[in-house]
Amino acid sequence: MSSFTSEERAAPFTLEYRVFLKNEKGQYISPFHDIPIYADKDVFHMVVEVPRWSNAKMEIATKDPLNPIKQDVKKGKLRYVVNLFPYKGYIWNYGAIPQTWEDPGHSDKHTGCCGDNDPIDVCEIGSKVCARGEIIRVKVLGILAMIDEGETDWKVIAINVDDPDVANYNDISDVERLKPGYLEATVDWFRRYKVPDGKPENEFAFNAEFKNKDFAIDIIKSTHDYWKALVTKKTDGKGISCYHHHVTLPAQYQQMWINGSITRKTDETSLEYKLIPAASCLSGSIRGKSSSFPKL
Ligand SMILES: [Mg+2]
Repeated sequence: MSSFTSEERAAPFTLEYRVFLKNEKGQYISPFHDIPIYADKDVFHMVVEVPRWSNAKMEIATKDPLNPIKQDVKKGKLRYVVNLFPYKGYIWNYGAIPQTWEDPGHSDKHTGCCGDNDPIDVCEIGSKVCARGEIIRVKVLGILAMIDEGETDWKVIAINVDDPDVANYNDISDVERLKPGYLEATVDWFRRYKVPDGKPENEFAFNAEFKNKDFAIDIIKSTHDYWKALVTKKTDGKGISCYHHHVTLPAQYQQMWINGSITRKTDETSLEYKLIPAASCLSGSIRGKSSSFPKL
């Protein structure tokens, strides 16, 4: 069991806005590298970047120290997705699975395209509207192979394990049966959401059909392997910030930590966040109180 908190700095919808993540001890951590991919057997962590029905394109800043969440900027302007008729904002809680990476130097065998240089994306379909920066635990149900301007951009479909109906959802077919239209709307949304900004429609591998749970988990595992290569410097991340405790750990501990054979609990001293001079990575003043989420 673990719990994480978030800390907002500066005002939302400004260039300075950031959401930093903290662990159970109140230490600043990276939501990209320091939150474990698995919350439990077959249960994944998800970092919520965009709450359902909202429009601001918030994302983990992969190139900034501590990888806070911030709003994407294009040509100096904060990015928002349009309300694509008939939808309002993003139609799921949208975010990423930590400790995964879609390698831009690797051509995916299914799509024939390289990765988009980000952690793998998740659409969470439960009934609760989550908060930005919330860390939830999800059950994976399926996956869609989107191709965005020639880059592979997998979209995992998952449900919050705290959803009252979670027991009824065990594979992608349950989503088709219990939420009719939602998957069709998901493809429609991803296909067209950039068109109002003058971009072409996105494309999909597999004729835009969703793959099932087992396929999705295999893809997530492969992105976890690319992430391991990134943080152990076997792959050049070209600007990706891995500025966190891995860097200080002796090589043998790095591998043990990645394998899961040591954890913070069993080896406190070697996994303290020695490297992070937090003050130098943090920006903006703390906004309100840090928000706490229900115990995970
Ligand atoms: Mg992506």
